[in-house]
Amino acid sequence: MTGAYALVLHGGAGVLADHGYPEQIAHMRKLAELGKSMLASGESALDTVTEIVRQLEASGLYVAGKGASPNKAGRYELDAAIMTGHDRKAGAVAALTGFVSPVHAARAVMETTPHVMLAGRGADAFAMQLNLERVDSVNDYYTPAAAPDDRAMATGTVGCVALDRAGNLVAATSTGGTLNKMEGRIGDCPVIGSGTWADNQVAISCTGQGEYFLRTATAKDVAARMAYGGLDLAAACQASIDEVGALGGEGGLIAVDRQGNIAQPFNSPGMKRAVVHADGTITVDID
Ligand code: ASP
Repeated sequence: MTGAYALVLHGGAGVLADHGYPEQIAHMRKLAELGKSMLASGESALDTVTEIVRQLEASGLYVAGKGASPNKAGRYELDAAIMTGHDRKAGAVAALTGFVSPVHAARAVMETTPHVMLAGRGADAFAMQLNLERVDSVNDYYTPAAAPDDRAMATGTVGCVALDRAGNLVAATSTGGTLNKMEGRIGDCPVIGSGTWADNQVAISCTGQGEYFLRTATAKDVAARMAYGGLDLAAACQASIDEVGALGGEGGLIAVDRQGNIAQPFNSPGMKRAVVHADGTITVDID
C-alpha cells in the first residue's frame, strides 16, 4: 500500500477562444486536490474516480450530468462507463434518462449484474430498482453547460483515470453526448474500448467527437499500442489521437499507466483537464 499514485481528470475537449473558464479551472483544481488526498490516504482508484466523476456530473459546469444538453427530440439521454484494470471488470449505461449520476449507474451495472452495458428503458428500470437518485424535474434540473462552439459535432464531457497505491488502475467517463445529437444516439463514452478502458497497464478516458473514437476503438488502441507495439504511454496516446485526426475527428484523451506516467494529448481547440502528478504536484490547463 505504499506505491505511487496519480490521477487525471477532464472536463471535455473543445474550449471557446474568448472564454477563460475560471469556474471550471477552480472546480477542476478542487477535485484534483480531493483526488490527491483520497489516493494519498490509501483510498482505492475505484472510489476516487467514481467520486470525482460524480462531482463533475453534479456541478453543471460541463456537458455531462447536470450540464448535459437535450438531444434533437428534447430529451436528456446520458452515457457513462467505468472499468477497473486489475480484473477488467466494466459497467456502462447508455441513453439513461432521469438520473443524477450516470457513473453511479454504470458502477452498479459492473458490481451487481452479469452484464457490461444496459441501455435506454432497461438502464432506467435498473437504476430505478436500485433507488439511484432521480432528477425530480427535468426542466428545472438540467442547466446545459456552455457549448464549446457551434460545430456540427460540438462536444463536452467528463472523465477521470487514476492509479492507486495498491497499483490498481481505473477509468471512468460520463457525458451528455455531442450537442444536437439524434434521439437514441450513443457515443464512444459507454463503449468499453472506445471511450473508456483500463487494464493492468494503463487507464484511458476519451473526449471528443465520439463517432471517430468508436471507429478507431481509441481507448483500447492506446493499450494495444503499448502491449503489442512496445510504445511508451506518451507515444501510444499521441498515435491514437493522430489516428482519430487522420479520419477527420477531433478530441483528446487522458491516460495514466502503472508507473504513474500521465498523458493528455488532444487535437481539439483545447481540453479542460487537471493532473495529480506522481510527485504530488497539481496542474490545471484548458489549452
Ligand atoms: N465523446 C462524447 C460523445 O461523443 C462527447 C464528448 O466527449 O464531449 O458522446
